[in-house]
Amino acid sequence: MDYVLDTSALFSMQDLPSEARCFTTPGVIKELDRYGDRRSDLWGELLTVSEPTAASMRKVREAASRTGDSTRLSPTDVEVLALAMELKALVLSDDYSLQNLATYLGIPFKPVGLKGIKDLRRWRWRCTGCGRIFEKEMPDCPVCGSKLKSTLSKKD
Ligand SMILES: [Zn+2]
Repeated sequence: MDYVLDTSALFSMQDLPSEARCFTTPGVIKELDRYGDRRSDLWGELLTVSEPTAASMRKVREAASRTGDSTRLSPTDVEVLALAMELKALVLSDDYSLQNLATYLGIPFKPVGLKGIKDLRRWRWRCTGCGRIFEKEMPDCPVCGSKLKSTLSKKD
């Protein structure tokens, strides 16, 4: 599966995942440049910059207005989700609005970095096989061996 990385993901990662092809959008590269981050140069060859079509951008914006995420989503977030939708890729991001909308759109995503770890209690992993809920991410379910899927838990 391909990955689409947003700015928060690229900031917290030391290395790009080698098991997948990595994509990002022109908006993300612009944000990295604005913060003077040179990693986009280093990763140039490993990271494919690709622009989503206007049609998928529109689809994401429409979904955002339905979920109420519009005001919290930057144009770059919209780009990232639109590209992930087109490539049927997994989004790497620590941004909650983006993650919420990804859930709504059925786009798989994974938090990365320190922020993701700190906020683990807001996330649970549900086994796609036996349905058990786990508090932390594991490669697979220790009970039945099926894949786990991240799920946004209700605030408690
Ligand atoms: Zn299980």
